[in-house]
Amino acid sequence: MGNPLRDRRTAAEWASAGQVIEIAEKLGSFKQLALIVEADLAALDAVKIPPDWRDSVIAGSLEFGFADAQRRLPAAHCRVTVVVDAVCQRCLEAFRLPLETEAKLLLLALEETAEGFEDHEVWELDESTLRPQDIVEELLIMALPFSAMHVDSASCKALSPAADDKEDTTKPFAALRAQMTQDQ
Ligand SMILES: [Zn+2]
Repeated sequence: MGNPLRDRRTAAEWASAGQVIEIAEKLGSFKQLALIVEADLAALDAVKIPPDWRDSVIAGSLEFGFADAQRRLPAAHCRVTVVVDAVCQRCLEAFRLPLETEAKLLLLALEETAEGFEDHEVWELDESTLRPQDIVEELLIMALPFSAMHVDSASCKALSPAADDKEDTTKPFAALRAQMTQDQ
């Protein structure tokens, strides 16, 4: 048995099977996400890059089913968390950034629409089959902040009560994410 996260089946097949996938995977096995984190950490001096950043565990679940009683609309409910290493855009030091994402998705073919499922987001299927890992990975990429930074002044060297809160115009995650979406 392989890892169902990396299997390919049609949305209807995943939904009919009522597949529930428990996720406990290292960040390093999510290639696109790892590329983004790696590019972000590259701003640090080599000695400051946390050596085990690829080992952060992505944990959660992905459940497939149908959104409607007629079993025509495949859906997925994904909940995942991970703590990634990131660079604070204020002080340019590494810190641990918790990410959490939850989404109810309607798995629809391109151009397909469904009325009355406003509690779901539409996930457009651009291929006939889907790989669960791709859903998890894209949700996590979308959960990355535009500009990562320490939230509390106690841990951020650049934040002191007197310091001006300078607006930082560099948004590395946003730029990288835009690039990735274009490449797909
Ligand atoms: Zn900071």
